[in-house]
Amino acid sequence: MTSPFVTRDGSKWMPDYLTFIDGKTCIGCGRCFKVCSREVMHLYGVDDAGEILGVCDDEDDFDGELNRMIMVVDHAGRCIGCGACARVCPKNCQTHLAADNAEA
Ligand code: SF4
Ligand code: SF4
Repeated sequence: MTSPFVTRDGSKWMPDYLTFIDGKTCIGCGRCFKVCSREVMHLYGVDDAGEILGVCDDEDDFDGELNRMIMVVDHAGRCIGCGACARVCPKNCQTHLAADNAEA
């Protein structure tokens, strides 16, 4: 099947959507967030037990319960599949899905 996705010059382009970040291996470095223009993911705090506490804007959040921060894909539908986040991730903890395999 011919890809319906093309660039301005008509070249074929297959978006590769970010669908998931593995919280066990993510180090919360923030690199993916910095390169993303679409606000697809955000940093979340995690406690000692590995439970997600919520969106984390500051290391002082959550009254001392914060153990570490991880990136969470909380607005997957905003992703345009540019692939920038995958290029900068040092931990290979992201899962992407090619547009021709994504549900509408
Ligand atoms: S693929 Fe592009 S738009 Fe999607 S989350 Fe990564 S950087 Fe953002
Ligand atoms: S770049 Fe990778 S390791 Fe860093 S916050 Fe994003 S998903 Fe986590």
